[in-house]
Amino acid sequence: MATIIDGKQIAQQIRDGLKTEVARLQKERKITPGLAAVLVGENPASKVYVNMKAKACDETGIYSQKIPLPADTPQKKLIELVHGLNQDQKIHGILIQLPLPDHLDQHAVLQEVSPHKDVDGFHPMNLGKLLSAKFWDELPAFVPCTPAGCIQLIESTGIEIEGKNAVVVGRSVIVGKPVAMLLLAKQATVTIAHSRTKNLKEICRQADILVVAAGRPKLVTADMIKPGAVVIDVGVNRVGEKQLVGDVDFEAAKEVAGFITPVPGGVGPMTIAMLLRNTVESAQCSVS
Ligand code: NAD
Repeated sequence: MATIIDGKQIAQQIRDGLKTEVARLQKERKITPGLAAVLVGENPASKVYVNMKAKACDETGIYSQKIPLPADTPQKKLIELVHGLNQDQKIHGILIQLPLPDHLDQHAVLQEVSPHKDVDGFHPMNLGKLLSAKFWDELPAFVPCTPAGCIQLIESTGIEIEGKNAVVVGRSVIVGKPVAMLLLAKQATVTIAHSRTKNLKEICRQADILVVAAGRPKLVTADMIKPGAVVIDVGVNRVGEKQLVGDVDFEAAKEVAGFITPVPGGVGPMTIAMLLRNTVESAQCSVS
């Protein structure tokens, strides 16, 4: 029976530490870290995420500015807004809630966020640095939040990442690819599986560390897990009216894995904690 990795509790510990650091920054340097969250359109899940992030900022003492924009906002206008935030002294982190409506070029917009305020780590410069880092200490200041949270959850188990076989299911720029790069920087041997991968079961069964980010409920079943493995389930899938489930068949998988994250209460809270951390670190580096 696996140990359940309590992402909520680990995230809370990080947030408590950040709260202390924010109070210190305010007292000693008169700096209040600030996060701007830009939400284009009416995507209900995106609205929930932005509200959760703003609430987490409030609880930590971080100034947050929610910027809702109509779904038909022209790209030029969005980019002008981003340029304004780049110059805004109160703002140390800029978050463009994804996905953007179809008429907007996500890549072009993310490129306009100052790499020094890119607390989501999606600017091409920060992604490029992530790709070129050979070791952990060569990583950029901002790495994407969900992947960074996955690494913290793995490390919370006390299992050494170096030299382990790690399998990442999913190759998105938001989760799969950066998590694979972070595992590489931690010296794991990394395999990336995706929708065209053959023999997913055999590949997953090789994994000492299995990170699943596919957005497919119960894609990973118990017979795909190596006994004792660390299983990190990034997936968030809505089933029926209210239930949220991951990509791993949790009930069966926990009988085989050594450590496993639940959904909800695993990776999700860590994503927010990492965003707060990046924002505070950005404020620490700011000159005032
Ligand atoms: P995405 O749709 O961009 O990418 C999904 C990836 O999974 C693709 O690379 C695809 O090749 C792969 N895939 C799909 N079906 C597969 C299959 N049958 N076998 C193997 N691989 C398959 O999604 P994403 O943005 O990377 O998000 C993945 C999941 O993680 C979603 O459920 C999303 O909601 C969740 N997510 C959670 C958080 C969090 O904070 N908890 C953050 C980001 C994403």
